[in-house]
Amino acid sequence: MIDAVLLGTGGMLPLPNRWLSCLLIRVNGHLTLFDCGEGTQIAWRESGWGFRRLGSICISHTHADHVAGIPGLLHAVANAGRTEPISVYGPVGSADVVRALRAIAPVLPYEVRVTELRGGDRFPLPGGLTGCCESGDHALPVLAYRCDLQRGRAFLPERARALGVPIDFWRALQAGEPVSWDRGQVTPDEVLGPPRSGLSIAYVTDTRPAPKLPQFLKDVDLLVCEGTYGSDEDLPKAVRNRHMTFREAATLAQDAAVSRLWITHFSPALEDPDAFAGNARNVFAQAAIGHDGLTIGLPFPEE
Ligand SMILES: [Zn+2]
Ligand SMILES: [Zn+2]
Repeated sequence: MIDAVLLGTGGMLPLPNRWLSCLLIRVNGHLTLFDCGEGTQIAWRESGWGFRRLGSICISHTHADHVAGIPGLLHAVANAGRTEPISVYGPVGSADVVRALRAIAPVLPYEVRVTELRGGDRFPLPGGLTGCCESGDHALPVLAYRCDLQRGRAFLPERARALGVPIDFWRALQAGEPVSWDRGQVTPDEVLGPPRSGLSIAYVTDTRPAPKLPQFLKDVDLLVCEGTYGSDEDLPKAVRNRHMTFREAATLAQDAAVSRLWITHFSPALEDPDAFAGNARNVFAQAAIGHDGLTIGLPFPEE
């Protein structure tokens, strides 16, 4: 299961009732944050999710509305009692920016490890997630993120019993290890069901709908994607500022055949994003206009 909360939905500036765009996900009790603008720690506190289990921060790019909240958040996590390291991932240039931000948060009870990524890179995320990233198209280097959670094959106890496998060996077989004992030997294939599909979630912001993105985002269970502009008439602005309209976000979701779409990163000028929901839903019926605190629990699909 992956739990996700959209802590904020704004672009450029935090507003009353609209924090800056960022996504927090939880897998097996471990947390990963995507972007951290000014005020993210307040939005986080409002969500009720604790800070201590934060293991990774993935930065889309280094514009202030996506990183300026990092020093304060690191203090909030320290205050919650964390001592284990935190990994920060971001595009080329992130290490310098995080180092500069750490000038105002130099003393922490845990280590902060920064890794710069390039499109196509894969990296581990907390709770057993596999992260990967792809380059977007913005004024600065930007990364789109995707996280996949594999699901192990089901253990079939009736088969293990029929083969006479002592119960002490079941856990090893479940973990994919062959076992042998005085009266026989068994491989995992003999007692495990067929492969099962996993879960995936993606976070894409501050980019034009770059050509590589549909394939990169293929079939994700939830796509959280920017739609800075609601009106189709703002397409020239979206092109100029390297953002997307709602219709473009929905087209990306449709092209990638995702299951659900949450639109986020609204321009401060966009007072009522819901008024433009039709522009997204005409293209992709499962489009939802994000709002601060929007939460979902994604279960593994039924077999
Ligand atoms: Zn932004
Ligand atoms: Zn930006």
